[in-house]
Amino acid sequence: MLVVKKFGGTSVANKERIYNVARRCIEDYNAGNDVVVILSAMGKMTDELIEKAKDINPNPSRRELDMLLTVGEQTSVSLMAMAMANLGVPAISLNAFQVSMHTTSNYGNARLKRIDTERISHELESRKIVIITGFQGVNKYDDYTTLGRGGSDTTAVAIAAALRADKCEIYTDVDGVYTADPRIVKKARKLNEITYDEMLDLATLGAGVLHNRSVEMAKKYGVTLVVRSSLTNEEGTIVKEDVKVEKMLVSGVAVDKSAERISIIGLEDKPGTAFRVFDALAKANVNVDMILQSVGRDNTKDISFTVDGNFGEDALKVLEENQARLKYQNIEMEKNVAKVSIVGAGMMSNPGVAAKMFECLYNEHINIKMISTSEIRVTVLIDVNDAEKAANAIHDIFGLDE
Ligand code: ADP
Ligand code: ASP
Ligand code: MG
Repeated sequence: MLVVKKFGGTSVANKERIYNVARRCIEDYNAGNDVVVILSAMGKMTDELIEKAKDINPNPSRRELDMLLTVGEQTSVSLMAMAMANLGVPAISLNAFQVSMHTTSNYGNARLKRIDTERISHELESRKIVIITGFQGVNKYDDYTTLGRGGSDTTAVAIAAALRADKCEIYTDVDGVYTADPRIVKKARKLNEITYDEMLDLATLGAGVLHNRSVEMAKKYGVTLVVRSSLTNEEGTIVKEDVKVEKMLVSGVAVDKSAERISIIGLEDKPGTAFRVFDALAKANVNVDMILQSVGRDNTKDISFTVDGNFGEDALKVLEENQARLKYQNIEMEKNVAKVSIVGAGMMSNPGVAAKMFECLYNEHINIKMISTSEIRVTVLIDVNDAEKAANAIHDIFGLDE
């Protein structure tokens, strides 16, 4: 059997944890399996590297930032190989260059395009445990790129798909996917199973337990994921196409505190306005999320949208550079906002779910700034200071702890 095992930052935060992971992998190896291990940077190393960069230059180029960040994952994989060797098992660490993990060229948010499996297969054939850097890739200029925060999950799924692995396990600091972030909602409950679609929405809407693109990729290539703890032997959560139990009305609540809202006031109320705004943003690689356009009055209209906090300044810059062409009066930016969402495949056939969520927010005296919905989710934008209260109240009203 070929097993891909991914361990996050907390799971390799210190010497003891590194040895714990090494032993778990060696168990699989000794059972006769081929073992490929994907690692994140140790503990908070990625955050610390970003801080270091910003101390030198508050606005570092994304290329140089990626060059720096790849050091994090390179540290953990090499130390892991040393730990395994010390335990008497042959292991080799490889980075994105050595594996040839090709990505798109956009630094900081690159997408994996192709992974060469030759080197990995060669090392597995010589009965080594292969330890690979998560999060990083190489673009067509032979520069390092990174896949976005939390991107090691995506590396793991991509490698599992490329190698046609029998198992892809994501080990983290919680024992599975919960009905809400257990750090925010104390009554959150572990799910035994969840569908790709629900997990994709939860991850995209702020449930950081999995990188959203890892779920997208798992669905595309039919890779069944298991999310479990690196510190216990609990069974974890299975993420797959269909779940056995009846689809739940609401399966989870997600909170995203990194959202920012930008409002463009006084745009011309005529065809092509929205196109010009969002085309300019797309060309600058700014991902836009919720969008709201006001009713036109006096030949003007306003457009508000949310972006991930990492891209707020980029969005503002693009809009300011294009003011003459986009013809607006002014821009307002609001950073103290959060998205709170509910996700559930059962929503599709049950009316009234959104109303119940809005009623709950009303009871808590929480004002809604924006709303967006799809077949299986409802998202509201609210003040960031209300986010945790909202998540707990919504979790309660839908009886998710039962
Ligand atoms: P890793 O370093 O292992 O990748 P992360 O910090 O990226 O770990 O993800 C694990 C964290 O995700 C948990 O500690 C938890 O606080 C958070 N989280 C957010 N939403 C959820 C959820 N629905 N279920 C479980 N954990 C969640
Ligand atoms: N080390 C990277 C991060 O902190 C990638 C990851 O952990 O998945 O975002
Ligand atoms: Mg993570």
